[in-house]
Amino acid sequence: MTFTEHPIETPPRAPSPVHKFGTLAVHAGSPHDPVTGAVIEAISLSTTFAQTSVGHPVGVFEYSRSSNPNRDNFERAIAALEHARYALAFSSGSATTANILQSLAAGSHVISVSDVYGGTHRYFTKVALSHNVQVTFSPSIEIDIAELIRPETKLIWIETPSNPTLSLVDIRRVATVAHQHGILVVVDNTFLSPYIQNPLDHGADIVVHSVTKYINGHSDVVMGAAAFNSSELNDRLTFLQNAIGAVPSAFDCWLAHRGLKTLHLRAREATKNATAVAHALQSSPHVVAVNYPGLPSHPQYAVTLKQHRDGMGGGMLSFRIRGGHEAAERFCQSTKIFTLAESLGGVESLVEVPGAMTHAGIPREQREAAGVYDDLVRVSCGIEDEYDLKADVLQALEKAVVGPKIKNGLANGHGHVPA
Ligand SMILES: *Cc1c(COP(=O)(O)O)cnc(C)c1O
Repeated sequence: MTFTEHPIETPPRAPSPVHKFGTLAVHAGSPHDPVTGAVIEAISLSTTFAQTSVGHPVGVFEYSRSSNPNRDNFERAIAALEHARYALAFSSGSATTANILQSLAAGSHVISVSDVYGGTHRYFTKVALSHNVQVTFSPSIEIDIAELIRPETKLIWIETPSNPTLSLVDIRRVATVAHQHGILVVVDNTFLSPYIQNPLDHGADIVVHSVTKYINGHSDVVMGAAAFNSSELNDRLTFLQNAIGAVPSAFDCWLAHRGLKTLHLRAREATKNATAVAHALQSSPHVVAVNYPGLPSHPQYAVTLKQHRDGMGGGMLSFRIRGGHEAAERFCQSTKIFTLAESLGGVESLVEVPGAMTHAGIPREQREAAGVYDDLVRVSCGIEDEYDLKADVLQALEKAVVGPKIKNGLANGHGHVPA
């Protein structure tokens, strides 16, 4: 492979065509401007591109929904980081899911892990059915898969780690069974990012991301992406990307591409912080249980070691607090650095109560069967200082769990009872 054959995928001064993650993050899809030499691509806002004669555009672009320079470059970068031949960008993670589901013929059947992202669950149960695609949910897909497969099963949907309980799926185990039946396996890799896990290397056919989270990483772009190796899939999904038109703007592609260049630094820092917070939570008497794939006590730690780079746990964790839902709410209102908000994967740390926020739309019985109890708190560790994040969590636990007990004690005859 020479630079002239692959001027965009290959950084101009790198010593070898096979590059490590950080090098690809900075250089893949980032050609120098051939006219000015600008090392950062221009934002190409033009919606249309001139043609020299009918049907002959000056370059490769015609109309910006179909393709444009910023989206092309971003898609090249995503393909490189996910070890894929192709990648496509969409206007959100949800639009990515919709395009993939839309590619299935009416009457198709899908098998999904139970505790998927709330919006994915909503799409599967409320939208997919309207074009007669049925989804079966399984809490233990590695064990159930063979039994759940029907003649019309076309797709298996995995989230690993799952949201918000951080349980893992052995992708290879599921893909092996799926492929015996000609079924495609999709992995939503949003929670780990391509730095920590590359699902295609473990047998998945499509990897999807909410780029809104770690890949953009700065909580200022809503966007999605899918990456895969099959040229047939590329034809089908490229057609739908253009036909449905749920595409990101050139500016958002430029911003997300800029965010992606530091993904490896942010993912490492978020993992370091989450590991420190997980250990602090685990040794606190105010915590019932901690879900973090980077802890050796995680029930599927063997999968962490098999699928994640260097056994990293990522920046996401969740825990059950003592004192029920009220304590969970108090905790989220007592943190000073962690902001109470939905979403994840940004440079700033966030906390939320899934049962009342991101997963409120899922009926309680189904939620609790998947481990999403009312006392569960989800934490997204950002890239602030580890020491400050740990201290913030510990002080908020005291306020949420111990504080009310002291107040009750006073009210029970030991102190002044206000009128
Ligand atoms: C946020 C998220 C989505 C949806 O992405 P949007 O960009 O918000 O549409 C899908 N999957 C997971 C795991 C997510 O966290």
